[in-house]
Amino acid sequence: MPGFEFIGKKELNEIKHIFKNGSVLFRHGFEGLRKNVYKVRKFENDFKKKFGSKFSLAVTSGTSALRVALEVLNLKKNDEVITQSFTFVATVEAIIESGAKPVCTNIDKTLNMDPSDLEKKITQNTKAVIVVHMLGTPARLDKIKKICKKRKLILIEDTAWGCGGKYKDKYLGTLGHMGTFSFDFAKTLTTGEGGMILFKNKNDYLKAKAWHDHGHENNPKVPRWKDTRKSSGFNYRMTELQGAVGIAQLKKLNKIIKLQKYNANKILKDIRNLPNLEIRNCDDHCSQTYDSLIVIFKEKSLAEKCRINLNKKSINTKILPEAKTWHFAKYWSHMPELSFSHKKNLKNAFYISEKILERCVSIPINCKMSNKHISEIVNVIKATAKK
Ligand SMILES: *Cc1c(COP(=O)(O)O)cnc(C)c1O
Repeated sequence: MPGFEFIGKKELNEIKHIFKNGSVLFRHGFEGLRKNVYKVRKFENDFKKKFGSKFSLAVTSGTSALRVALEVLNLKKNDEVITQSFTFVATVEAIIESGAKPVCTNIDKTLNMDPSDLEKKITQNTKAVIVVHMLGTPARLDKIKKICKKRKLILIEDTAWGCGGKYKDKYLGTLGHMGTFSFDFAKTLTTGEGGMILFKNKNDYLKAKAWHDHGHENNPKVPRWKDTRKSSGFNYRMTELQGAVGIAQLKKLNKIIKLQKYNANKILKDIRNLPNLEIRNCDDHCSQTYDSLIVIFKEKSLAEKCRINLNKKSINTKILPEAKTWHFAKYWSHMPELSFSHKKNLKNAFYISEKILERCVSIPINCKMSNKHISEIVNVIKATAKK
């Protein structure tokens, strides 16, 4: 998992730096007070540099990052946005909030969007696709990008779980038109709450930047209270406190990913060739973040047994299976807009996904894991698979 294991002195020092230099907690203005300290601005710049992207915008959360990214597209009432059935509810919530119709695809054994089902679900009304790199494993971007290009669809990468992962040497979140990130407390980097959007296109960036800030253009020729505007907007601004923490967290990204990979590989080397078991995988030449390690048993009963035996050793699983209701569209009949897109039959709409997910067990990978803990995980998986 994540950044929260490494919240410490460096983050605190970044915050102290604000308080020693005028204590301005707002990202704009107050030039006379702030002694040139701009934490959110620096976090945005550091982030885009690290990821090799041209434009970046910090926002209040991963959910608002999706919402702001969708605003750029000028979606109308009957427009459809397609995402995958295995994701966090936030992805679909953002589509609904943007006024478009949400549609979900099945997943394949990457546990991300199945490109062939995406092709089937595109209609004349489809405007955009939000692909999710769920729990740190890259989606099949080559195929998905090709489909989006051919059908002239905007591709957004929901990189909430994919921060630091790569697809063929490019960072996840930089391959689509826009990439969104979350810094909530369970994600790879954390600012408590927070999010980021990366953009390829300058106009998209300028539109998002204004809209996330009540339409403010931050025109350098006038003071903020006289600022110019072309559109209405909303408030999804990040605070300087979050920006400060983000600056320190970003510096730890390489270390976090390295440790997660190291720990995941310790488990993987002992469970790779077991009977009745597959390991979640992705396209060649991709780099997973190993936020968690997902094993796919041959049968549902084995997955259930595995979880019970892990829990007996006080080892938790992550999302699969215990939090499926928040992460699998089958259970989202409380969202009438989504239900409507799937003939009011969400229960049966994602049969293929269900048949994969019910056989999965997801092991959370931390940066700090003892050898004892790792060998207990390996032993339970081995014992379960051999039955
Ligand atoms: C966490 C998450 C989000 C939302 O991020 P918040 O910062 O919690 O709002 C969106 N999509 C996915 C796939 C997530 O896991």
